[in-house]
Amino acid sequence: MTRVAVVTGGASGMGEATCHELGRRGCKVAVLDLDGQAAQRVAEELRGDGVPALGVAADVTDRAAVEDAFAKVRTELGPVHILVTSAGLVDFAPFLEISPDRWQRLIEVNLNGTFHCAQVAIPDMLAAGWGRIVMISSSSAQRGSPGMAHYAASKGALISFTRSLAREYGPAGITVNNVPPSGIETPMQHQSQAAGFLPPNEQMAASIPVGHLGTGDDIAAAVGFLCSEEAGFITGQTLGVNGGSVMA
Ligand code: NAD
Repeated sequence: MTRVAVVTGGASGMGEATCHELGRRGCKVAVLDLDGQAAQRVAEELRGDGVPALGVAADVTDRAAVEDAFAKVRTELGPVHILVTSAGLVDFAPFLEISPDRWQRLIEVNLNGTFHCAQVAIPDMLAAGWGRIVMISSSSAQRGSPGMAHYAASKGALISFTRSLAREYGPAGITVNNVPPSGIETPMQHQSQAAGFLPPNEQMAASIPVGHLGTGDDIAAAVGFLCSEEAGFITGQTLGVNGGSVMA
């Protein structure tokens, strides 16, 4: 059966790689992103590969925009079976320098944005009696991150959110898992390095057990599997894709 997938943050980095992976796995793919032009570009590439795809511009913090975006997806591609939430923001600051606005912004995008998308997507999954949700969290939530307390808190909440939804919707055929990445080369990581918040690649690689950084495709492979038919007995889990940086 052809599944319809929505990937938030699908226009860049690991979200973009996940769009292509889900397309290769036979899904119709909606690329949802704040950057509407980039979302259209990824959707065009998918269509070029023969994948039915739609680019949708939406800010995941805006509930009305999320509802409109999912309505477009339903009209163009059909009801939503798969939701991958990769839209996210990172920020670095010593704890005492995190203003309430800065704290709130990360919670808005990383946590509340995921809440909006999940709440809008789940009714379709309930109607189908089948669903897959994968939230992209972060290794910073697993090990704690000095200078990133707001980011780690927003991502740690996704891990508890995953577990709660997994229990609530397991009986309805919906699995809910999260993938905490670490050391993945994406535009977000390059920006953090350029701003001096992360060390250069060689230094990062030296601290990773496998000895090199990961790619968006490494994340996409795990997410694609968690969204598959075969992964139906896996729910409530946190599957680190991190080259061994965190071993849980
Ligand atoms: P990225 O910056 O390349 O992609 C993120 C995408 O999210 C962008 O296209 C951006 O436009 C979109 N986005 C941001 N705010 C949005 C909003 N309000 N509404 C809709 N879209 C929005 O980053 P990436 O590295 O691919 O990160 C993907 C996810 O992985 C993020 O949630 C990030 O926190 C998490 N993560 C990344 C790493 C890493 O090593 N790169 C590590 C841990 C966690």
